[in-house]
Amino acid sequence: MELYSGMMSKLIEEFASLPGIGQKTAQRLAFYIVNQPKEQVKIFADTMIEAREKICYCRECFTMTDREICPICANTRRDHSTIMVVETTRDQAAYEKTGKYEGVYHVLGGAISPMLGVGPGDIRLKELIQRLQGDVKEVIIATNSTLEGETTAMYLGKLIKPSGIKCTRIASGVPVGGDLEYIDEVTLLRALDGRTEL
Ligand code: ZN
Repeated sequence: MELYSGMMSKLIEEFASLPGIGQKTAQRLAFYIVNQPKEQVKIFADTMIEAREKICYCRECFTMTDREICPICANTRRDHSTIMVVETTRDQAAYEKTGKYEGVYHVLGGAISPMLGVGPGDIRLKELIQRLQGDVKEVIIATNSTLEGETTAMYLGKLIKPSGIKCTRIASGVPVGGDLEYIDEVTLLRALDGRTEL
């Protein structure tokens, strides 16, 4: 027996397919939505569709943006000769939140993981190496302290070293296995200040 009518079940099912949403929460959200004013729900749905359609990757740093060049890369007051390498746009946001980093970023879009079959060719390493042809003084590797993040950092260090460009790794004050976005700003700044040369 189906507990809810077809459309309601379908809505619950869609919510339940989202990451971190179990059946109970899916039901709660579905009921919330059908009890909202129609216009409100339309704005929500349209925003999702528009975001999906318009958000792409910055041509320069590959962060998610709705412009060809993201606001950070387009900002001439930022130090374009310092590039911080992060795994995701969310990690980048964590550093931006500190308000203390003045360089630019390079978003890899993941990390090397032999276990998951993610190789160097599957993340944006080639694009980073291309950027190093320009006027770059330092590359700060700020991948996560996970096995994948460390593997990527090591690989990057070896890749960048021959170029003679200063290559640093953020301090290991960042808890092992912790995603950067969940770490408080003070810890992030300490990790950045305490970075060591590779
Ligand atoms: Zn950018």
